[in-house]
Parts: sequence; C-alpha cells; structure tokens
Amino acid sequence: MRVLAGLDGTLLDPEAPLLRADDLGVLRGDGVFETVLVVDGRPRELEAHLDRLARSAAMLDLPEPDRVAWRRCARAVIDAWPVGEEMALKLVYTRGPEFGDGSTTAYAMGLPISESTRRQRVEGVSALTLERGFAPEHAERAPWLLLGAKSLSYAVNMAALRHAQANGADEVIFVAADGSVLEGPTSTVVVVRERTLRTTPPSSGVLPGTTQAALFRGAERAGWTTKVEPLRAADLWEADAVFLASSVRRVTRVHTLDGEALPRPERARELQAVLNDLYEAEYL
Ligand code: PLP
Repeated sequence: MRVLAGLDGTLLDPEAPLLRADDLGVLRGDGVFETVLVVDGRPRELEAHLDRLARSAAMLDLPEPDRVAWRRCARAVIDAWPVGEEMALKLVYTRGPEFGDGSTTAYAMGLPISESTRRQRVEGVSALTLERGFAPEHAERAPWLLLGAKSLSYAVNMAALRHAQANGADEVIFVAADGSVLEGPTSTVVVVRERTLRTTPPSSGVLPGTTQAALFRGAERAGWTTKVEPLRAADLWEADAVFLASSVRRVTRVHTLDGEALPRPERARELQAVLNDLYEAEYL
C-alpha cells in the first residue's frame, strides 16, 4: 500500500514514474526529506517536521518550503490512507532537474510501517557503536558537511546499518571522533538514569529529533529532569536504559550493545513502558 500526492495536493499513481532522470535529488542526493508518523489520521509533530524541513532546506540553500502547500499535500495523502492503519508519511523536496527551468521537486508519500519496526518497538534492538568520522565541533566549523540537516544523502547511514546487520546487530549508535555519542542513522539516542533523560545536543552535529522533543516535553510535565548535553560512550553502559527514538520506531529500547547485553535489563524494560506512556500521552 502506498499513497502519493504532489505538492498541490493532487493524488498521483504511486506505480507511475514521477521524477525526471536528471533530478538532482537522484543524481546527487541534493534535497531534504522528513518522515512523519500518522496514527488514526493524525500526523504527529507535523509542525515540528515542517520547521525542520525548512531548517534543512535553508542549510542546503533551497527555496523556503511553502508550509501551506506542504500541509495540504500531507492532508491529501492522510485522507487517502485506510482508516486505523498507521502510516509513515515521507515529505520529499529536491533541487529539481539539473537541466530544467529551475523549479524544485516536491511530493509526499504514505507507506506502511514494516513488521520488523513493529516488532522492534516491543522487543528492543541490539546496536553497534560505529565511528561517524567527524568531531562535534565540525557542526559549527564546517557547515558544508550539512551536519544536522535531514538531507537525502543517507547512503552513509544506510551503509552503516548494513554493516551492523552483517555483524549481527539491528541498529547503529554513531560516535564522534572524540568518542562522544552522536545518534543512530535514523534515530536519536536517549539515555535514562534515575529520573533524568539525556540526549546529545544538535550543536554536536546531530539532527534535532521531533520524537525526542515530544518525549522530553511529556517527561518534564510528569516531573522528570531532561538534559540536552554531550554524552560519553560510558554513559550508555552506566545508564538504567538506552533508547533510540524516531517518528517511525517511537521509543525503542536498546538491549544489547557491541554484542554484550546492557546491564539492568529489568529496569530498562520498566522504563520502556514508562517512556512509551509519557510519549503516547502527548497524543491522547
Ligand atoms: N537522527 C537522524 C539522523 C534521523 O534520520 C532521524 C529520523 O529519521 C532522527 C534522528 C529522529 O528524528 P525524528 O524523531 O524527528 O523522526
């Protein structure tokens, strides 16, 4: 099942060709995207996703996205999706054809949530820590690296996931050149210790996560402490629980790191339930 719509809200045939062969999104990964979770016809954090789309577009010097058009296009896909079925809604925005009239390419596409994602939400994941190859200070010093932009150039992220899977793990936690914890290839790292949730700051070159932000909002309301500050690899081992948060996976527990079970599995399972309740409460 897939549903596709153009930026003007027209539904398109998802089986039919859509892009020109010289689209710079295809030729160079030159574009940006978002993935929004839609539950019961309601998109979660749509405005935060549109904020981030605009921020990523600005980092790539793309024209500012037309928010009204993006909302309309998202709505067209959501309205055409079967009621009661969760959807991953992709918003895709590229620089357009290389030899075109200068116009950009934009569309939204609804996709089902995979079985493995659903299973991992419940059972948790194993992860490998892998080097990402930059230092946190590069985020500010080298803006052309586009650290923290959700660009379409995700080949490195996908290669890291394949590397993990070839080595028996489900997921990746990237670490920076100084050994600090960054993020997953498609997720934010959240560690919990006692009544405190922590995550890496965007100033270290990670994407600001909309799921992490919603979780922290809910947690603060419930009296938890939240901190956005650099994390050391050792923090993963010293935590009561480690999570990967993203729109599609929600708040997924990491049970195994670099081939070893994380300590305190019972506490981590309890925290998984608590954090999922805090996150879901944002959408009741
Ligand atoms: N970090 C990266 C690199 C991502 O690609 C994503 C989402 O795909 C996230 C973090 C989590 O962001 P969100 O919670 O907004 O889905």
